[in-house]
Amino acid sequence: AELPLDQLIASLTVDVPDHPEPGIVFRDLTPVFADGDAFRRMVDGLATPGASDPRTAALATRHPGGRPFDVVAGVEARGFLLAAAVALDAGVGVVPVRKAGKLPRERVSAEYTLEYGTATLELHADSVRPGQRVLLVDDVLATGGTLGAAIALVEQLGGVVAGISVVVELAALGGRQLLAPHTVHALWAT
Ligand code: AMP
Repeated sequence: AELPLDQLIASLTVDVPDHPEPGIVFRDLTPVFADGDAFRRMVDGLATPGASDPRTAALATRHPGGRPFDVVAGVEARGFLLAAAVALDAGVGVVPVRKAGKLPRERVSAEYTLEYGTATLELHADSVRPGQRVLLVDDVLATGGTLGAAIALVEQLGGVVAGISVVVELAALGGRQLLAPHTVHALWAT
């Protein structure tokens, strides 16, 4: 029998102790991305945030065709790999949420707190139109600071966060609580 997706992801993820600094266990998902079967199932799973968010299901049923989102936003950098695949599969476009200083045109910015200091994420002002439903995608949910900033960017442009999908949720860090009332769809919670 086929391994459940959470077990498959867990079995392919490589834990790297003390990276990028002492005390952090870095969850390296590159072997999950590199496995064709795992990548296929991961992309399918990320595209269905409604599985864990009743609000996403409601957004979908109010729209013709039942598609639950209009565009996929990926967070730099590993989120790009996932978001592009999810978007192509769903027949919608993909937009990049980037670190400060990368996007060349008019943009919105959101600052968030890191363990030491702050960081800034940006989105082109024309990447999301008012009322557009946006699926946010990243690889790992840790403290939730990154996705919190991504939510703020979408909402600054009048977009509606239709779902938040991640591959791995590090549950002890409380990211899910930080992002409430938005609901996170995680393929593997650990
Ligand atoms: P956070 O803002 O704390 O939720 O951190 C999430 C971002 O940092 C994501 O873009 C992750 O790719 C990365 N990240 C944070 N902690 C880890 C970790 N332990 N392993 C791998 N990536 C991480």
